[in-house]
Amino acid sequence: MPRAATDRSAPRNGPGVDAVFHCPTDRMEKLASAMRMTCISTRDHAQTVTALQFEEPHRHALEEESMSQSAPITVVGAGPAGMAAALSLLRAGHDVRLYERYARARPAGNILNLWPPPIKALEAMGVDVADLGAPCHTTFRSESGRIRADVRIPDDVIARYGGGFIGLLRPDLYTRMLAALPDGVLQTGRELASIDDHGDGVTLAFTDGETFETPVLIGADGIDSAVRRHLWGATPKRPHHLHIIGGFTFDIDGIPELELGEVVLTHNRTVQGTYSSIRRDGRTGIQWWLLEAWPDDHEAPADLHAHGTTLAAGFRGPLSALVARTPTEQTQRWPIRDIAPLPKWSKGRITIAGDAAHATSPYAAYGAGMSICDGYFLGQTLAGVDLADTTAVTAALEAYERPRIPHTRSQVQQAYVLGKVFHHAPAFLRPIRDFVLDRTPLLQKQVGERSPGEIVAQLAEMGDGILSPTTR
Ligand SMILES: Cc1cc2nc3c(=O)[nH]c(=O)nc-3n(C[C@H](O)[C@H](O)[C@H](O)COP(=O)(O)OP(=O)(O)OC[C@H]3O[C@@H](n4cnc5c(N)ncnc54)[C@H](O)[C@@H]3O)c2cc1C
Repeated sequence: MPRAATDRSAPRNGPGVDAVFHCPTDRMEKLASAMRMTCISTRDHAQTVTALQFEEPHRHALEEESMSQSAPITVVGAGPAGMAAALSLLRAGHDVRLYERYARARPAGNILNLWPPPIKALEAMGVDVADLGAPCHTTFRSESGRIRADVRIPDDVIARYGGGFIGLLRPDLYTRMLAALPDGVLQTGRELASIDDHGDGVTLAFTDGETFETPVLIGADGIDSAVRRHLWGATPKRPHHLHIIGGFTFDIDGIPELELGEVVLTHNRTVQGTYSSIRRDGRTGIQWWLLEAWPDDHEAPADLHAHGTTLAAGFRGPLSALVARTPTEQTQRWPIRDIAPLPKWSKGRITIAGDAAHATSPYAAYGAGMSICDGYFLGQTLAGVDLADTTAVTAALEAYERPRIPHTRSQVQQAYVLGKVFHHAPAFLRPIRDFVLDRTPLLQKQVGERSPGEIVAQLAEMGDGILSPTTR
């Protein structure tokens, strides 16, 4: 019997075709039967070509077997959410690939603060958090310096998680997270183009033409998420009509009234002016930002640094000096948008994480933190799950989102409301607002006590690590 040769020049994966052979048809019938395949077409001009298809039950069994043995979980988007999901799922024992559309995983900006839950999550994922940021205590203040809210994180939490609320530069977080990823996990220059969840697996197509199967898809692809759109349709961004101008400097010697180890968050009648200590390579510096109402359809200020200088002049203390010492190229601007909280994240074998699921105003200073925690909880809920078992995968993704949706919704909405109160109150109401904030415990209760309470509750909910038992 002539040897049947697999045809490597012909396209192998036409619709329904599992293999193509050059071989006389009668001989092929025998071989096909031995391989539990069916001949679905024969012939071509010069020689006999036989296209074969696996019989359906056998194809199904093979697909399930290969899925459970080898196909990695796919995470799309190498921001904080995607890197965290990949690291956590690796810790949970799964094979993972992380796809990023750009040529490298790169942060969109610089300024960042992180609460203790993401620090706990990063530690559990094997990320080096030693001296990652400057430990900071946070106060909300009035224009005159009166303390309106003192964010009191318990001392034991501060001691355990490197200082409570740490100030750092975003690229340094990326460097540490990327260093923890094993070689080969991150695939850059790969943009997801389409998704098909066919029940027992998900077929993904990328803009470079590659198509493959994955048992689980996690969309960590940011506020404009294609994965969210595939699952839940168009979800318009909610404009806040606010923008932030921010920057950082390590040139801080001799600046009068500078408070190190503090996030000093001050509101005048219309603008928030804030500064926070940061750490980089063992050095302490300062990041600052100014947040004001700015209609979304207005052009950005032509000279950001000059605009920041004007806004900072409206504050007592060191803000003006900090802006003056910040190089122009280290000054950035972001319009603020979020998405209204979603009632559901997961469907079948697909879910979303990070800004794709809960894009948040920086008023929360928790968007990246929540994204990292999403990754932690994904690892926890998918640990030990047989990825070939559709029911088990779906249940794990439900268990992941069940506590995350209410937690993130509360943060997103609180940040949205704070932006309205501080920057969109009508002029005649501002004196009353400021009287209430200065003379009543409202802000202390809302952000001084509620936020630390939620931080402590999150730490408890995280349990003792990615492989710790959960009650979900
Ligand atoms: C001014 C400002 C200050 C902030 N301050 C803080 C703070 O102090 N603390 C805090 O916790 N949070 C803060 N945040 C929020 C935080 O930046 C975000 O919540 C966080 O970056 C979200 O991370 P992510 O991984 O979900 O999304 P992103 O960081 O947006 O990453 C998404 C990634 O997906 C990739 N991607 C998108 N589509 C595709 C595709 N089709 N295929 C492949 N890849 C794709 C993108 O290129 C990108 O790399 C701040 C935000 C702003 C704007």
